[in-house]
Amino acid sequence: MAHLFPKSIQWRLQAWQGFLLVCVLTGFGFTAYHLQRLNHFRQIDDELDRRLAALNSEIVARPPFGPPHGSARPDLGPGPGPLHDGPGGPGGPRGGPGDPFDGRRPPDGPFENRTFQVSPATQRLFDPSDANGFYYLLWSRSGTLIAGSTNAPANVVPPAPRTDTLTHIRVRQSRREAYHFTEIGECILAGRSIRADLDILNRFAGFLVVAGGTVLTLGLGGGAWLIRHAFRPLNAIGTAAHRIAAGNLSERIPVGQTDDELARLAGVLNATFARLEAAFALQRQFVADASHEMRTPMTVLITEAQATLARTRTAEEYRETLKSCLDTAQQLRRLTESLLQLAQLDAGQESFQHQPCDLADIARACVERLRPLVAERGLRIECDLLPSPACGDAGRLGQVVTNLLSNAVVYNRDRGSIRVRCGPHADGVCLSVADTGIGIAPEHLPRIFDRFYRVDPSRSGAPGRTGLGLAITKAIVEAHGGTITVTSESGVGTEFIVRLPAATPGDQHA
Ligand code: ADP
Repeated sequence: MAHLFPKSIQWRLQAWQGFLLVCVLTGFGFTAYHLQRLNHFRQIDDELDRRLAALNSEIVARPPFGPPHGSARPDLGPGPGPLHDGPGGPGGPRGGPGDPFDGRRPPDGPFENRTFQVSPATQRLFDPSDANGFYYLLWSRSGTLIAGSTNAPANVVPPAPRTDTLTHIRVRQSRREAYHFTEIGECILAGRSIRADLDILNRFAGFLVVAGGTVLTLGLGGGAWLIRHAFRPLNAIGTAAHRIAAGNLSERIPVGQTDDELARLAGVLNATFARLEAAFALQRQFVADASHEMRTPMTVLITEAQATLARTRTAEEYRETLKSCLDTAQQLRRLTESLLQLAQLDAGQESFQHQPCDLADIARACVERLRPLVAERGLRIECDLLPSPACGDAGRLGQVVTNLLSNAVVYNRDRGSIRVRCGPHADGVCLSVADTGIGIAPEHLPRIFDRFYRVDPSRSGAPGRTGLGLAITKAIVEAHGGTITVTSESGVGTEFIVRLPAATPGDQHA
């Protein structure tokens, strides 16, 4: 079933809008027509009621019935008024066992042949010259037509007898008639042709249909325009996203001047695309740098091997070459291990132990391990190591301290010094490694943690200096929920500060 409807939101909105518009217009049209009809007929009914009341009051007050035929008619004045012998003719006699009026009024008989004349005032309410005007008819209890206006239609049938004296309305052949029965069972009826009224109402209905159709057409057209207009930015977003997905990462979604939801969405998507582009660029750069870094030792290996094999060598020469190849291979292994570690850190696959440890103990052990190197360079090292309980992987944290210490040794000046401190701080524990080395120029500081970034490649081109040490250090620190910052001054020295969250009671059981 769902496939019968178009999938585009635009078309679904359009369909819903059309459906709702049709519902609203139909509801409005029906309500308007019925209110108009109700109001119209209520006015007619009021008129009929007024006339019926006038007739009734005359019948009750005078009474308007003349004496039976053959007797004097003392109270009817100049004689019978315009009597209308309706085509219905005298109705069949009523009474008998089924007569609902039995016991409440005089029986039929001498009252059957009475005459009735309305007063001129009431007569004016029934203009006989108006074929569509009001008419009246009066039947005796037995259904005999007693009187009626000359414009009354020929085929009016007397209403079925009722036990009440209330006014009732009936509609017969484009005529609307109000009637009621008097206490003694006579039926008075006032009516009017409603053909002209029905024509008016039909014209009104036609007008409503035309107006509704016009409003529907305009509404659908306007709605389609509005929806298309509202969807234009979304389509632009879709088109731009399509081009970006196809590989054009520098493509951006056009953002309108307005500060609406779509403009904000476009802004967020553009920011996301910019980050994606930067990440891809970084990734590309990383792969290129990694390939480059690996190619150098590879080239060294191949060149040395080729040169050695070019002619016969002494055993000593072979040993030299093999030693050199081993160094290069170890450098290559360190590089690939660093790359692998970074890739695992990136992917969150590095398996960290999460155990309570003391950063001071870790730092002390690292210092001891590097002491020969420090001595070899003629450097002084000072330690100020306060108990610093942390939680994490002691091996990885040791790698952090070793990286920072080895940098402090490599990039120090002759007879310089290194100061290692650690202790608790406001939010946890911190470790500082400061040296009196060459320092880092301010323009290099922001990129110092980038992969393969080296301030002076010639200086840091020593074996094992891959430009990945600080990147790995930062990744390990961040994986422990910590931060690493650097302050440095060219020619004066550099200080790295690592901050780690303190161990919590829960960590003891981790
Ligand atoms: P590398 O293996 O080249 O030392 P690192 O990632 O450890 O790579 O360091 C990146 C660069 O940062 C180094 O090449 C060096 O230029 C600079 N650097 C790191 N530590 C220090 C320091 N303590 N003093 C001066 N420069 C430093």
